[in-house]
Amino acid sequence: MRSWASGSGPARGEGQRNAGRAHRAASFARIAFFRSTRGNQPAVAVELLISESKIRDRLEVMGRQIQGDYRDKPLTIVAVLTGSLIALADLVRQIRIPLRIALVQASSYRGATTNATTLVVNEAFAPDVAGRDVLLLDDILDTGQTLSALVEHLKDRGAATVRTAVLLRKIGRQIVPIEPDYCGFVIPDAFVVGYGLDYNDEYRHLPYVGVLREG
Ligand code: 5GP
Ligand code: MG
Repeated sequence: MRSWASGSGPARGEGQRNAGRAHRAASFARIAFFRSTRGNQPAVAVELLISESKIRDRLEVMGRQIQGDYRDKPLTIVAVLTGSLIALADLVRQIRIPLRIALVQASSYRGATTNATTLVVNEAFAPDVAGRDVLLLDDILDTGQTLSALVEHLKDRGAATVRTAVLLRKIGRQIVPIEPDYCGFVIPDAFVVGYGLDYNDEYRHLPYVGVLREG
């Protein structure tokens, strides 16, 4: 991983002559550049959006809320593969009540003739949630299709209650009405990577969330 480099912007002296540009000069973007593990892929630039320490602080607060809400309840946290794995690992260590962890995997397919997407749940990961109070955890709420379909799926499997938690919620893209019960951060409509979220199955291991820019 390379260290942060300053983004482009006007030089300080230049910016000070103009209030608008001075402001921009003061807020240099923090951008890191990465090579792909596949040699034929172009390098990408990732601009810091949410730092490691902000994520840590937020998950601590969310963990405490969940702990209070699920005291004396048979809690199972069901994490959606693969994007929520890092958030799962950090979140559960902030929750000091008994709980179980389970995983689900779902893939969405776009119809050939219509734009409708179908979500197919991989039964190989079928968690035993009968009678359990389930907290479904995903990395990001975008259109809302994944989360709402999985809520129904878990209810069909006999969960006593199903609530939802997301690390990120993207603004302006939702098409299915669903309100997450716990939400880490609201983010603008941009493609983000890191802290579990991928681009072509890479960059999940970055300890922060960043916006993918052209390389
Ligand atoms: P939804 O069903 O809400 O449209 O989509 C949720 C899924 O889309 C997430 O679990 C995630 O896999 C993917 N997704 C949506 N937005 C982004 C994004 O900005 N970056 C990445 N890496 N994945 C995203
Ligand atoms: Mg996902």
